[in-house]
Amino acid sequence: MPKPKDSARAAVPSVDRLLRLPAMEKLVAAHGRALATEATRVALADLRAALARPKRGKAPKTDDAALLAAIGERLTAMTAPSLREVFNLTGTVLHTNLGRAALPPEAVEAVVAVARGAVNLEYDLSRGRRGDRDDHLEDLLCRLTGAEAATVVNNNAAAVLLTLNSLALRREVIVSRGELIEIGGAFRMPDIMARAGCKLREVGTTNRTHPRDYAGAIGRGTALLMKVHTSNYAIQGFTAAVSEAELATLAHEHRLPLAVDLGSGALVDLREHGLPHEPTPAETIAAGADIVSFSGDKLLGGPQAGLIVGRADLVRKMKRNPLKRALRVDKMTVAALAAVLRLHLDPDRLAERLPTLRMLSRPQAALEALAARLRPVLAQRLAGVATVRVVTCESQIGSGARPLDHLPSAGLALEPATGGRGSGAALLRLAAAFRALPVPVIGRVEDGALHFDLRCLEDERAFIGQLDRLIEGRDAAP
Ligand SMILES: *Cc1c(COP(=O)(O)O)cnc(C)c1O
Repeated sequence: MPKPKDSARAAVPSVDRLLRLPAMEKLVAAHGRALATEATRVALADLRAALARPKRGKAPKTDDAALLAAIGERLTAMTAPSLREVFNLTGTVLHTNLGRAALPPEAVEAVVAVARGAVNLEYDLSRGRRGDRDDHLEDLLCRLTGAEAATVVNNNAAAVLLTLNSLALRREVIVSRGELIEIGGAFRMPDIMARAGCKLREVGTTNRTHPRDYAGAIGRGTALLMKVHTSNYAIQGFTAAVSEAELATLAHEHRLPLAVDLGSGALVDLREHGLPHEPTPAETIAAGADIVSFSGDKLLGGPQAGLIVGRADLVRKMKRNPLKRALRVDKMTVAALAAVLRLHLDPDRLAERLPTLRMLSRPQAALEALAARLRPVLAQRLAGVATVRVVTCESQIGSGARPLDHLPSAGLALEPATGGRGSGAALLRLAAAFRALPVPVIGRVEDGALHFDLRCLEDERAFIGQLDRLIEGRDAAP
C-alpha cells in the first residue's frame, strides 16, 4: 500500500495539464507562454517540497484553482517593475537613494516627446547636417551662468573626471587638503584624480590652507588649480580657505586655469527663497573660475547629469577628449535638462514650478497644517496598532548640500501601541507595512517611532487613498 505522502505526491498535476487549463489562457495572454511555463514549474516544485515536508495543520492545497492562484501571484511578482515610485517622507529632499530631484511636468513631457522616436539630437535642422548634442543646452547654460561655453556629461563625478583628464593628464593638480572629499558612492577626489591620470598635489592642512600654500606648490609640472566645494561636510573652528577670487588671481598670474567643483550648484540665489546660500555657478565664474562643474539632479532640480561651464578653449578640449564619448548623456536627459533650464529663465515663477525648490521653500506653517489634516486619518486607520502624533522636525536639503542647515518642518510620529518590550519589532513591522503599500511610503525610524516628514508630500490624496491597504500591515502588527 502506498504511504499517504506518496499518494499526495501523485496528486501533483503535470506542467502540461496545468498549461492546457482554460483558466491559464488569461495568464499566458498577460505574461507570455515562456514566463507562464516557468511560473508553473516553480509553483509545482514548491508544492512538491511542501508535500515532502508537511507543516502541522497546514495541508498544502493541490487543487487546480489554488495552483492557478499561486502561478498568477508568481507571474505578477516576476513581471512587476523593480524600480518604482515611492513617497519620500524621510525629510531629505534630495535623497540619493530615492533618486534625488523630482522632475517638473515640463521635463517629464519633454522626455516623453523625444523618447518615442527619432529626434534631431545631433542634427542641425537649419543646415541639414551633423550637429552636436550640447547645442540643445549650451546657450541656455551660458545665459544662466555667464560662461562662454558649456558641455554636459552623465553626472558631476564624470564632469570632474573629464575636466581633470582633459586639462591635466600626467601633470599636477593642486588641491587643498581640506577639500579632498569623499562623496557617497565611492567618489573620492584622490581616487578620481588617479583614474583621470593626474598627479594630486595636496597643499595646506585639513583645517587651514593659505594662498602661500598654493603659490609654493606651483611649478613646472602644474597643470591646474582645483577648488572643491566641500558641500557634504563642514570644518568649523580655526579654519582658513582661499576664496575662488584669490585662487583665480593666483592661477592666472601663473597662466594656469582654475577649476571649481561646485557639487550642488544652484542656479538661483537660494537666499531669495528663505534658504541658506549655496554658491552659484554664475558667482563662481564671475569670481574668475575658468571651469565650473555641478550636478544636474541636486539643487538644479533636473535629471542626473554633470554640467561643465567655463572658458571656450578649455570646454573645446573636453569636447574633443575621447572620454567625452563614453560619458555623454542620452536624448532623454538632454530633453529633461533643457526643460528644467528653460524654467530657470523665469526666476520669479521658479519656486512654483520646480519641485525641488518648491519643496525646499515650503513654509513650516503649511506643513503643520498638512500634518494636522493627516493625523486623524492615519490615527483612524491605525487604531489599536499605533498612536499618531503631530511633530515638528527638521528637513535636510540632502545630496551633501549644506549638511548643517536644517529646514524647520512638520510631520507625524507613529508609535506602536504595544510599547515596552517587543515594540522594536512592532515598529519594524509598522515601517514594513508602509513600505508594502502600492506606492511604498519611506519614513525614518527614530526614538521608538516611525517619523514621516511631510515636506515632500505633495499628493495628499494619493497618500490617503492607499491607506486602506494598510489592513494587511495591521494583521501583521501585534
Ligand atoms: C555630489 C558631488 C559630486 C558628485 O556629483 P554626482 O552628480 O553625484 O556625480 C562631486 N563633487 C561634489 C562637491 C559634490 O557635492
